[in-house]
Formats: sequence, C-alpha cells, structure tokens
Amino acid sequence: MSEACKLWQTQLADGGYYTAKVDGRFGPVSLGASRVAAGWDAESVLPAAPISGELSGFTFGRSSERELIGVKPELVKVVRECLLYSPVDFAVFDGLRTKAEQLAMVESGASKTMNSRHLTGDAVDLVPVISGRLRWDWGACRKIAVVMKDTAIRHGVRITWGGDWAGFPDGAHYQLSWPSG
Ligand SMILES: [Zn+2]
Repeated sequence: MSEACKLWQTQLADGGYYTAKVDGRFGPVSLGASRVAAGWDAESVLPAAPISGELSGFTFGRSSERELIGVKPELVKVVRECLLYSPVDFAVFDGLRTKAEQLAMVESGASKTMNSRHLTGDAVDLVPVISGRLRWDWGACRKIAVVMKDTAIRHGVRITWGGDWAGFPDGAHYQLSWPSG
C-alpha cells in the first residue's frame, strides 16, 4: 500500500522490532513494534499470546539444561519460552564457554572471534532436533528464529540472531545485543 510504511517496517525489522511481513500496511503489529522502538515497555503494547499460541510439548534434556547454566537469566527466559511454542524441537548445544574452549573453536575455524558473547554467558546456540538428531538445518533454524525474536520482543529483551549476520551467518546462534548495537 504505502511505500513510506514499507520503509518504516524495514527500519523496524533492521532494528529487531518487527518480524512480520513488510507489506506496507500499518496494522496492530506495526503499531506495537513502533511503540517498542520508541521506548514503550514491550509487555504493555504487544499481545500476550505468542505467534501460534499452541504449546509444543517440547522439553529440554539434561545436556541442554547443563548448557544453560551460567547463561544470563533474561536470555534463558526467552530460550525457555521459545521452546514452549517453537514449531521445531531444539537443543541448547552451547552456552557459556571457557576461554580455552573458545580458543579451540577459533583454531578449528568454527568461530571467528575471541570476543565471543559465549565467554560471558550472553549467547546460546540452539540446534534443531529432527527425528531425534541434531541437525544444522537452515529451514528449521529460521522457524526457531521467528519464535525467538517474537518472544524476545514481547519480553523487552534485545537479541541478535547469528543467522542475520552477513559475513559469517550462524543459524544456531543467539546473543543479547551489544549495548550499542
Ligand atoms: Zn554461538
């Protein structure tokens, strides 16, 4: 409909406030996202029910629970609620990392930085579980990302999805956004 509205929705999406379709129609979702972008409390402007509202029935196994130890509580809250409504089962493959573990990952090429948010408990890797096995599947990662972003917005927690990185996209990775970014 409106090009100006499409541009605004694109800017909201770039800021992590809007995950619905950029369609140029200023509906309730656009309004809610605009208010959160303007500094309103996310819980007060967005509907309480998550995307589908249907419970997934998925629960974390022992290894996922272990990986969540030491991860920042606001990120854990989003991850746990995401699993409740995610259309795809997933495991927490990695949470808090030691410096030695990160160094080993950089040396193996699995990571590019020693400035990783995993070192401070600000990041998690959520890997889809399909037919009982861990699968780094982009389609499944994207479905999880939609629910993660929606859940984070509703809780007023600013997260960054590694799948949105242009240079070295990482579909399993989520982190609390850097204060400036
Ligand atoms: Zn990661």
